[in-house]
Amino acid sequence: MDDTVKIGVLTSGGDAQGMNAALRALVRTAIDRGALVFAIYEGYRGLVLGGENIRPIYWESVGGILQQGGTIIGTSRSEEFRTREGRMKAVEHLLEHEIDRLIVIGGEGSLTGAMLLSEEWAGLISELSARKVIDPAIIEKHPSLHIVGLVGSIDNDMSGTDMTIGADSALHRITEAIDAINSTAASHQRTFVVEIMGRNCGYLALMSSIATGGDWVLIPENPPNVDNWEERMCEYLKAGREAGRRDTFVVVAEGARDRKGIPITSSYVKQVLEEKFGDEVRLTILGHVQRGGAPSAFDRILGTRLGAAAIDVALSGEARVQPQLISLIGNRITPTQLKEALQVTQSISDAIASHDYDRSMTLRGGNFQEAFRTFRTMLRALPHPHEPEQIRLRLGVMHSGALSPGMNTAVRVAVRHGLDRGHIMLGIHNGFQGLVNGEIEELNWMSVNGWAPRGGAELGTNRVIPVGSDFYEIARNIEKYQVDGILVIGGWTAYVSAHQMLVERSRFPAFNIPIVCLPATIDNNLPGTEFSIGADTALNNIAAAIDKIKQSAVAHHRCFVVEVMGRYCGYLALMSGLATGAERVYLNENGITLQDLQHDLEGLISSFRKGKRLGLLIRNECAHSTYSTEFIRDLLEVEGQELFDVRQAILGHLQQGGNPSPFDRIEATRFATQCIDFLIEHGLQKSAESSFIGIQGKQIKFHSLDDFPRMVDEAHQRPKDQWWLGLQPILEILAQEDQVSL
Ligand code: ADP
Repeated sequence: MDDTVKIGVLTSGGDAQGMNAALRALVRTAIDRGALVFAIYEGYRGLVLGGENIRPIYWESVGGILQQGGTIIGTSRSEEFRTREGRMKAVEHLLEHEIDRLIVIGGEGSLTGAMLLSEEWAGLISELSARKVIDPAIIEKHPSLHIVGLVGSIDNDMSGTDMTIGADSALHRITEAIDAINSTAASHQRTFVVEIMGRNCGYLALMSSIATGGDWVLIPENPPNVDNWEERMCEYLKAGREAGRRDTFVVVAEGARDRKGIPITSSYVKQVLEEKFGDEVRLTILGHVQRGGAPSAFDRILGTRLGAAAIDVALSGEARVQPQLISLIGNRITPTQLKEALQVTQSISDAIASHDYDRSMTLRGGNFQEAFRTFRTMLRALPHPHEPEQIRLRLGVMHSGALSPGMNTAVRVAVRHGLDRGHIMLGIHNGFQGLVNGEIEELNWMSVNGWAPRGGAELGTNRVIPVGSDFYEIARNIEKYQVDGILVIGGWTAYVSAHQMLVERSRFPAFNIPIVCLPATIDNNLPGTEFSIGADTALNNIAAAIDKIKQSAVAHHRCFVVEVMGRYCGYLALMSGLATGAERVYLNENGITLQDLQHDLEGLISSFRKGKRLGLLIRNECAHSTYSTEFIRDLLEVEGQELFDVRQAILGHLQQGGNPSPFDRIEATRFATQCIDFLIEHGLQKSAESSFIGIQGKQIKFHSLDDFPRMVDEAHQRPKDQWWLGLQPILEILAQEDQVSL
């Protein structure tokens, strides 16, 4: 008997985009740690059948799969595994290979099955021992089963983790489809009903409605609270049309129901709209499109992080005591108790089944409830009328800095939320230059109609930072337009300019108003936040471009040097490296030395000699002033000789383009709502408190704008604290050259 630790892995239940990323990361991390992974093909069915369904899986078997949807080791639903006899066979087959650590990637059902298997293990092995099916020495060596679960489910229906593998990709598919339908719907003044997956979970339906600017949503957790909901819905939709909307969208989750638990099907909604709303209605059932296609950058990175952590937990012995779930909680990978997560998940289904909808919403958590409230504001045809005696603030909304996808989404939410709370919203065009020039106009509810999915920045943006007499003009305009507070949505220049206004307060009393900055830059180089709006879209743009580049390269034995944006911040470079499986990422944060280049070159030569067909190096645009992208390309080209040829790709502005990703739209919505609340609170108190918003871990926080200089490395225009640098070791392990021929 050899002492190599053996770990089994299977994917089970509904497939989800990103399962392959998890598989790749866990196989390679295990090999790096000296363990051996057995893939169990076809999920629990393969485990029950045994034989060829259980075989070792190696480094190169998981190469080139990051960008593939589905799961390369297959999945299934197995009725036999639901029986004790079936699970007995599963144990027998695991022990044949001396596997007592099992990583299960699947949904609630699959993880419930895994939980059961671990609970029954002791009983099942003693029965196998009594039947003399397995050598007693082996049975003695494996008294318990370590279970490590990763949730692979497009529905995001599991408690205990913020996101499940596949949910973000499904949101991509849904928003792409709804955006596409939107353009045709608006041309014909049509009404569309879209059915989205989710039997007990309205996450996809609610978030896609927020992301696309839907007009009505029906979800299982929170059915309409009136009996005549059909009339109420049609009244709202009619009012929306009268206010100027050209199309109408209703999103229905598969498991939608009324208060009594009677299903509300999408075809029933269609029928209601035809009869009561009197419009031509089209029904689209998105179905399996939602599971399909390439995983999003987020899912590739999530799968990778979870897969790597799963091995550490499987090897640590923690999972022997209690089955573990590797969760994402507030952007941190956190092992939690599988049993507890399953119990809470089950209690949400129970609450829905027993019509206790307050409880189901409470159990879904604060973000879900907040999203639902915000959606109900956004879908209104007009804002709530303000009280006659209410103080009405005049709040400005503007951009500053380079363009970032999601800027329009944030403006739409800010304007509608401010109007709904009874205040007057002013659009300031063309950044701080526009504030200097007085390019200011009042915005109404319909001014921002249709802005939710739109890329670009309708209000205009630029990198102008006010200097000298600009401040005098700004002060005059603030007085002239009686601005009581300003929301600046943008990047580095937004923060620098807003901070400068604070500095100038002693000279210009007009600046004694609340100012709040909302992080929107693809570079993700702002302090006090782990994510800025637009960075996720840029990452997806980069991943999509590199997928194509990789396809072109394999045919030729080629190495690509890809240059990505980010100025002095390596976020896009490192994260796109993780999302695309790059061998090497060059960051300004680390610098580049001649020894680094020599080491990388030798690594490439040795692995191309062993049969490698594709090399991928990603370089941040400011990684090094001398070792440019061209330099690295030329160096590799000369030294690679006949082994491989080298091409460079400077991705450029495509990174900033396109419609914002669902994640950017959702985060823009959360940030904008809270920023407006901040301005209203401080504006009403006549406090000049100024801040920037951000998300850290699970919490959205405001930091005082006074702290901005202390929190940044000004010379490199990036925060002093950059959380994502901690992900570098994962990339280094997964890209090791010397493992290629294992
Ligand atoms: P998902 O994992 O996506 O929720 P399913 O609910 O269909 O998908 O579960 C997948 C497989 O997991 C089932 O076919 C079955 O083999 C196993 N499974 C599900 N629930 C249980 C259970 N309560 N006990 C044992 N095995 C289960």
